Amino acid sequence: MQSPYFTQHHEDFRKRVRDFLEAEIAPHAAEWEEENGLPRSAWRLLGREGCLGLFHPRRAGGAEEDIFTSLVFLEELGRLGFGGVRAAVSVHAYMATHYLARSGGAELQSEYLAPAVRGERVAALAITEPNAGSDLSRLATAADQDGDHFVVNGEKTMVSNGMVADFHVVAVRTAPSGPRPCGTTGLSLLLVDARLPGVSTAPVQTLGWRAAGTTTVTYDRVRVPGNRLIGKINSGFYQLMRGLQLERLVAATLALGGMDACMDDLRGFLTQREVSSGPLARMQVLAHRIADLATELAAARQLVHHTAWLFQEGEIPTTECSMAKLYTTELACRLAEASLQLQGAHGYLASSAASRFYRDARAATIAAGPSEVMRDLIGRAVLR
Ligand SMILES: Cc1cc2nc3c(=O)[nH]c(=O)nc-3n(C[C@H](O)[C@H](O)[C@H](O)COP(=O)(O)OP(=O)(O)OC[C@H]3O[C@@H](n4cnc5c(N)ncnc54)[C@H](O)[C@@H]3O)c2cc1C
Repeated sequence: MQSPYFTQHHEDFRKRVRDFLEAEIAPHAAEWEEENGLPRSAWRLLGREGCLGLFHPRRAGGAEEDIFTSLVFLEELGRLGFGGVRAAVSVHAYMATHYLARSGGAELQSEYLAPAVRGERVAALAITEPNAGSDLSRLATAADQDGDHFVVNGEKTMVSNGMVADFHVVAVRTAPSGPRPCGTTGLSLLLVDARLPGVSTAPVQTLGWRAAGTTTVTYDRVRVPGNRLIGKINSGFYQLMRGLQLERLVAATLALGGMDACMDDLRGFLTQREVSSGPLARMQVLAHRIADLATELAAARQLVHHTAWLFQEGEIPTTECSMAKLYTTELACRLAEASLQLQGAHGYLASSAASRFYRDARAATIAAGPSEVMRDLIGRAVLR
C-alpha cells in the first residue's frame, strides 16, 4: 500500500542510502565510538554521497529535497544503532549548518556551508553553557563589537562534534556596552572559526553518544570578523526557536530508527535464546510486552510523520514537534530498558548492543530540550 508520505522516489533513496550506510559507516561505527569521533574520511564519504545537505536550499549548495527525504536518511542513520554517530551527523547537517543555510550571507555560505555539505569542514553548535541550558535567557557568552569585529568571551559546554569541528555556530549576547541585559533579547548567532586564537576545547566524558566527541569550548578574547554574523543582529532567540523545532523533529526521527535497531536486536535474541520450553519468543508474557512496545513504536512513527507533513505544508508545528520528541525519546528509553532486561546478563555486558542502546537512549530525553520542558510547552499549548 502506498504511504501518504513516502513516494517511490523516497523508497529508491531509502534503498540507496541504506546500502551506503551499511557498507561504509556501520562496519566502523564501533571503532569511532572508542575514538570519540568520526574521522575526516567518514565526513568526506558522507558528503560525497550527498547526505550532508539534503535539506539545504540549492542556492546554498544543498540538494533541496523535501523533508521526507531527510526523514528517510535520519531513520536509516538511526537504524545503524550508534547514537554517537547519529548525533554527530545530525548536529552537523540539520542543526549547526541549518542556521547558515537559512540565514547566512553568500560569503559565509561559500566559505563554510559549501565545504560542510561536501564533508570537508565539520560544524558544531554551541548554545549550552555551564550555567545556562534549557533557559536561553541566562546565556552569558558575550560578543562585544570592536570596530568591524566582535570580541567573544565565554564558555560553552556539551558541544557535540567539538573534538573535530572546524567551525562553531555560537549563541552569543550582542549587547551594546553598558549593563548587559539578561533575557532573550540581545542574542545573536555568530560563526566562530575553530582555528582563531583564543578558541580552546576540552573533551567531556559522557554516558552515551560517544562518537559525538563532546567537549567544552572556551572563547577567550576571540576576535571574530563582523561578517560572520548569521542573520540579523539580536535575532538569535527567534532563529533558535525556529531551529529548535527542526532539531526536535530530527531527534524524534533518529529515535525511531534507533528503536528499529533495538527491536531487531531484541527480536534476534528472543527468537534464538532457548529455555526448556523452547525459544524465549514463544513465552506469551514476553510476546505481550513486545506487542505493547511495537504498537507504541508504530504510533510514534505516525506522530513523527504527521509532524513532518505539517512542516512540509509550511507550518512550524511547535506543539507536535515537542510531542514527537517527548514521546519517541521516552519510548526509546523504555524499549532499551526492556531489551536489556529481556537479554539478561548478555544484555548487561558493556560490549552488547543492548547496553549501548540503553546508554544512548538516555541522552535524547535531555538534548534539544529535556522531557520536562517538552511537557511544559505541550501543557501550555493544550491549556491555553
Ligand atoms: C548528549 C548531549 C549532547 C548535547 N549536545 C549539545 C550541542 O551539540 N550543543 C549544545 O549547545 N548543547 C548540547 N547539549 C545540551 C542540551 O541541549 C542541554 O542539556 C539541554 O538544553 C538542557 O540543559 P541543561 O542540561 O543545562 O539542563 P538544565 O536547564 O539545567 O535543567 C536540568 C533539568 O531540570 C529540569 N528542568 C529544566 N527546565 C525545566 C522546566 N522549565 N520545567 C521543569 N523541569 C525543568 C529538567 O529535568 C532538566 O533536565 C547536549 C546535551 C546532551 C545530553
